[in-house]
Amino acid sequence: MTESLEALRGYVHFLRERDGVRQVRLSRTAREGLAKLAGEGKVSKVSVAVPGGSAVGSRRPPGDGVSPVESRGPAQSTVARSATATSSPPPTTSVANTPPLEITGSTKVEQLRHLAERAAVCVKCPHLVARRHTVVFGVGNPEAKLVFVGEAPGEEEDLQGEPFVGRAGQLLTKMIQAMGLTREQIYIANIVKCRPDMPEGVTGNRKPTKQEMETCVPYLRAQLEVIKPIAMVALGATAVEGLLRPVGTIGSLRGKFLEYRGTPLMPTYHPSYLLRNQSNTEKRKVWEDLLKVMERLEMPISEKQRNFFLKV
Ligand code: SF4
Repeated sequence: MTESLEALRGYVHFLRERDGVRQVRLSRTAREGLAKLAGEGKVSKVSVAVPGGSAVGSRRPPGDGVSPVESRGPAQSTVARSATATSSPPPTTSVANTPPLEITGSTKVEQLRHLAERAAVCVKCPHLVARRHTVVFGVGNPEAKLVFVGEAPGEEEDLQGEPFVGRAGQLLTKMIQAMGLTREQIYIANIVKCRPDMPEGVTGNRKPTKQEMETCVPYLRAQLEVIKPIAMVALGATAVEGLLRPVGTIGSLRGKFLEYRGTPLMPTYHPSYLLRNQSNTEKRKVWEDLLKVMERLEMPISEKQRNFFLKV
């Protein structure tokens, strides 16, 4: 039943994202199931949160007797939280059991939208579903020649629903601009679409586990299959690991193209590394990696660009 509750919560999120729905009506079966859990003390209150929502509308799915489910604003789902608190989170699905995602739609925009809709209601990692605010699918141009891949959303990304919008993201935007590009021209996505959860009361972010990456990576694979970039940049060792399994440290990998399913993949340091190590020497290393990507994309490179961060 816990998984059903998570699925319900995911469905409410999906409706909110797609239609702006703030109130959902439940079938009699679902209502009775929730009431049973409440009777067993597993759920303290029959209500489902819609982050950022208020009771402004309703949508009635097909079914028999229906009953409204209250929308509780930005707080957590009482149902999902309580259910999670009274049972161990089920393990995430192993990649071995996860077939490639079917790609539907006739245009790239449509195909990515369909995948994003699936991710929005995905409940394969219940422990992440219980705490996420949004599913951070990816952003950018479906026709992008270049895709940047990170590891997972952090706190800021989870709140805003877009990858790389925190401090590291702002630095990534500057790197993209230094290449003569904009975020709208490229595509940015993470291996894991939901923020890796942190213990209650602990701030900061953690890297995703191997299992979380293996469970979620089919979404990224499908995104790349749709976009078909000419080149990719993996930001940090975890991103490389998520794409290619463990192949070495980022210090040993960066600067040389690897290959991901036929596409050249340049590993480089994660922007957060540059926030911690702000010397021109480290910035130049990342810049040289990006220069190689620009060459691979046959982009024009000015003398000024070639010399960025050379004064060490
Ligand atoms: S991390 Fe990925 S696989 Fe896990 S619940 Fe989120 S979208 Fe689904």
